[in-house]
Amino acid sequence: MKGDINKIRELLLTQKQEILSKIQTGKDEEELTASNRGDYVDIATDGLAHELSYMFEEREKEKLKLIDETLESIGQGTYGECLECGDEIEFERLLALPFAKLCLDCKSREERRSKIPIG
Ligand SMILES: [Zn+2]
Repeated sequence: MKGDINKIRELLLTQKQEILSKIQTGKDEEELTASNRGDYVDIATDGLAHELSYMFEEREKEKLKLIDETLESIGQGTYGECLECGDEIEFERLLALPFAKLCLDCKSREERRSKIPIG
């Protein structure tokens, strides 16, 4: 690894904190809306809001999992290896895309491959 991996670690930890506080804020807002709604309750809208906040939370939890896995691989020293060719992924690329699993070469190869129409 040519760059300072601590930068990426810090980036991930910041993202993790942001997600955790977002999930918490989402819950607070939900409680606030529920108590301020008064007599009128639109069941359909209410259900949808719940569905959406559930989906949001699930998505954020997926991100948390990804962050934890990435932090773990930093700890194990396996972070930044391209899954395809085993080379080091460019540090600048990791800084912009901390979850990148392929180096730029393999990524562009993959993108070219997926553009070939089937049949
Ligand atoms: Zn590669």
